[in-house]
Amino acid sequence: MEIELQPLGLPSDNKRPFVIAGPCSAETEEQVMTTATQLAKKGCHMFRAGIWKPRTKPGGFEGNGEVALPWMAQVKKETGMLTATEVATPEHVELALKYGIDILWVGARTSANPFAMQALADSLKGIDIPVMVKNPVNPDLELWIGALERINGAGIKRLGAIHRGFSSYDKKIYRNLPMWQIPIELHRRIPNLPIVNDPSHIGGRRDLIAPLCQQALDLGMDGLIVESHCNPDKAWSDASQQVTPDVLDFILDRLVIREQLETTESITALRKQIDELDDALIDLLAKRMRVSREIGQYKKEHSMTILQTSRYSEILDKRGAQGSLLGISADCIKKIFEQIHEESVNQQVEVMNK
Ligand code: PEP
Ligand code: MN
Repeated sequence: MEIELQPLGLPSDNKRPFVIAGPCSAETEEQVMTTATQLAKKGCHMFRAGIWKPRTKPGGFEGNGEVALPWMAQVKKETGMLTATEVATPEHVELALKYGIDILWVGARTSANPFAMQALADSLKGIDIPVMVKNPVNPDLELWIGALERINGAGIKRLGAIHRGFSSYDKKIYRNLPMWQIPIELHRRIPNLPIVNDPSHIGGRRDLIAPLCQQALDLGMDGLIVESHCNPDKAWSDASQQVTPDVLDFILDRLVIREQLETTESITALRKQIDELDDALIDLLAKRMRVSREIGQYKKEHSMTILQTSRYSEILDKRGAQGSLLGISADCIKKIFEQIHEESVNQQVEVMNK
């Protein structure tokens, strides 16, 4: 389906990328107003706060619901900032519009569900409001595009995407893996669609916000949505990833906004892809070494020798042939596997002599 777009028409100034900032959740009137006033003083034009919070497990703070909507209206009245919130159902849309919310976003758990997306799209028919669709929790570009198409199909042309990273079973540095190649591919497929980066939900940690913001800008993303709270340690949701308006201002001030020519931009994007792939290679190698050490443990318990030459030749031959089928010389693959094998043996020796 062809996506038809119009510019989002949202405020930004030249010195800074387009930024939406505010707490994960609207907790109390005081927290909302204090945070918003501080952000407005730092020159923020758009305020976010969650009114309905999808929590992984019951028992967490699930948002104040409608009671918190007048606080958003007050933010707009007193600071002049535009307001943004997450909607997951047609009732949320109706209430958000009733209280004059300016920008809607769809969360990652909702964009993964075509039924919920269609219900939202139907409720948006005939309304002109900017809508941003977060990537689904799982790394499925088609599902993300499908969600965008449903909203666009309802007549919403001021449409944007939010890259908030993807869930994975084994958590490492990031709360949600960025998998930059996915928003890059989204940009290639729909070049005029603005993509906003959400470093708070990708990183899950305050100290990762600045580097993620910079990386997003370096990759040509159009803006940022960052969680900011007047008292992050006391936040009712996502405390570890929120920063004060002061810290956010400090981070934004130091971002390098590069002016790039088309060609340099694509080289930077390609290099980032290479970095991403190298990260994945090293992760895989580390996993492979862990399995090797487990084999070492087994061999130790069963008094087996480390080196079993038939297995070693089998790996070299099989992988060499596989490499040449994929356009990599068998020789090169053999060299790489010799190195990997050497390191595996070293690691097994260590396990066996413990
Ligand atoms: C949020 O923005 O606070 C949120 C719940 O995000 P996500 O849908 O990306 O998890
Ligand atoms: Mn959050």
